[in-house]
Amino acid sequence: ALPAFLGPIRTTCAYCGVGCGITATPTGGRSVMIAGDADHPANRGRLCSKGTHLGETVDLTGRLLHPMIGQKRANWGRALNLVARRFRETIERHGPDSVAFYVSGQLLTEDYYIANKLMKGFIGSANIDTNSRLCMSSAVAGHNRAFGEDIVPASYDDLDVADLIVLVGSNTAWCHPIVYQRIQAARAKRGTRLVVIDPRRTESCEGADIHLPIRPGSDVALMKGLLAWCDEAGVTDPDFLARHVQAPDGFWDDARSGHDLWSTARACDVPPALLQQFFELFARTPRTMTLFSQGINQSIRGTDQVNSIINVHLATGRIGQPGAAPFSITGQPNAMGGREVGGLASTLAAHMDFAPENVARVRRFWGAPFTATKPGLKAVDLFRSIAEGRVKALWVMATNPAVSLPDAARVREALAACPFVVVSDVIANTDTSAHAHVRLPAAAWGEKDGTVTNSDRTISRQRPFMALPGDARPDWWIMAEVAARMGWRSDFSYRHPAEIWREHARLTAYQNDGQRLLNLHDYASIGNEAYDNMQPFRWGDRPFADGRFSTPDGRARLVQVDQMELQAPLKDWPLTLNTGRYRDHWHTMTRTGLSPKLARHREEPLVEVHPQDAAALGLAQGDLARVATAQGDSLFRVRLEEGQRVGEIFTPIHWTDQLSTGGRTGLLPRPLVDPHSGQPGFKSTPARLQKI
Ligand code: SF4
Repeated sequence: ALPAFLGPIRTTCAYCGVGCGITATPTGGRSVMIAGDADHPANRGRLCSKGTHLGETVDLTGRLLHPMIGQKRANWGRALNLVARRFRETIERHGPDSVAFYVSGQLLTEDYYIANKLMKGFIGSANIDTNSRLCMSSAVAGHNRAFGEDIVPASYDDLDVADLIVLVGSNTAWCHPIVYQRIQAARAKRGTRLVVIDPRRTESCEGADIHLPIRPGSDVALMKGLLAWCDEAGVTDPDFLARHVQAPDGFWDDARSGHDLWSTARACDVPPALLQQFFELFARTPRTMTLFSQGINQSIRGTDQVNSIINVHLATGRIGQPGAAPFSITGQPNAMGGREVGGLASTLAAHMDFAPENVARVRRFWGAPFTATKPGLKAVDLFRSIAEGRVKALWVMATNPAVSLPDAARVREALAACPFVVVSDVIANTDTSAHAHVRLPAAAWGEKDGTVTNSDRTISRQRPFMALPGDARPDWWIMAEVAARMGWRSDFSYRHPAEIWREHARLTAYQNDGQRLLNLHDYASIGNEAYDNMQPFRWGDRPFADGRFSTPDGRARLVQVDQMELQAPLKDWPLTLNTGRYRDHWHTMTRTGLSPKLARHREEPLVEVHPQDAAALGLAQGDLARVATAQGDSLFRVRLEEGQRVGEIFTPIHWTDQLSTGGRTGLLPRPLVDPHSGQPGFKSTPARLQKI
């Protein structure tokens, strides 16, 4: 229960992985005044447009307020009993791998922990994956390969002391605006140089020292060319390499042959002189941060692209030092917290993989004899398994895969064919919940109570400042009640999120021999009041400052990576489709769509086309055009955009069936994934464009 009067409440923004601190002051009913938290280390009082307008998004428009079985309102007891019974029956008949959870980077760490514990520990399957699979799983795989642990070895403070910042595949100005503002502040104060590597000339390129509009998918060639240049220029760090890094056989032979400036420029389709400027700047600037995001991760070779960046930083010793590191910028508010509890099908718990000693350790800790022993199904494979009838009961929490997964039409077919679908959500009607047998009303931002971790490992509290409406309940409570009804009441008898947080902290420290840097032992016995008052803190001081990594021998790994073959344009599909976000919208707009001010920035879904391509197709600004791929098609309004490369088009990810008949980007990409991470390649789908 909330006190009758609430003063300003310190909480964290509901949107992106920057993790800005907010002060929320309730002003009666469900009204709230939002301001930036001047004391939060991520934003120091600043907010972007999305955060600023959060107050316009907290009314009850479209809320799911009661449990629903089919189209009928139910009470919690009936709904929870039904979910528990159907999951239990499915497991008894078909085994634990016949059920799955598909969760979200919107969940709080405490929610994520319970979902992971229930599925991996007690149900005994690792079939829990998350929409973070679509966002940063290639970064996870790349970190694990290079460092032996999924560590982001940088912080926002590094941006203040770097001399060069390189943005790769990241429209930071739109997608992580407060990080971009911080970069601009450093540029104004210290003259920090900025390089943007992106096929599109985005808002992040404005004022950049160099923009390299590389051919989509040529990032590995670029980074190998950069590594060869650094090696030739003598700026690799032989001492650091000898003491702290291991290279596979043949790594340096490969690095030193065939990656000269000219062949790199050809592979990346950029002018050699421009490329040389970047290489020279990088080579002479030891304090370099390389920030990367979806342009790197959302590729069928995303993990190799991540490692190609990390390779350069390891080879030059630019890691573990102030202002020098590779830096994965995550999309969602709690993708990192989800990673910390292990809420991906490919990890077990607390940064542990499925090595037998880890399984035994987690089994002991949870007292769960059937703990999963092998990875589960990653997102795209999970929905394929549903379509094939192997997964027969699915619980979707706080996400909308019918819109956001690639080849969304097939995802809908899978959902429609699944014998039992549960959706826990804040929103009553989504493209996914249209297929749910049971809908469960979850607590929303402003009602939830727990923690999130942002891109630089800062853990902050999300605090409630509004009462739960209708029958809405926290996600952790809903799952714990189902677990209790499945027979594990004493293992899920939580009454307060602090109890879950303490257990999570204890697990990170449990028999942790110092190899894993994730270790929250200081918080393992924190009291409820101290948890309520917890200040933002960053775990892992400066990872790898001592040159020791989380591998068994303590040495980082250079990873042999090769540039994938890039397809020439096809006769039927002469264009390449790239997808991404708008500045003022978030995911499927269930929240940002409620704010009239945010809607003004882009009122409808546009396909951005270079004028040369548009002229060839007889398209003018404002025309309606059909974007088609082998997977599907959808209508968009044409926007002529000089910043597009010729032959490439761009569409936004936000529009759904609930919002519009067109603009359905999710119908277009192929369900092809990176072999290491399972992350789908959203960024380069062969496509065509037709005037209608
Ligand atoms: Fe929220 Fe991200 Fe904007 Fe910060 S940058 S206010 S976390 S949306």
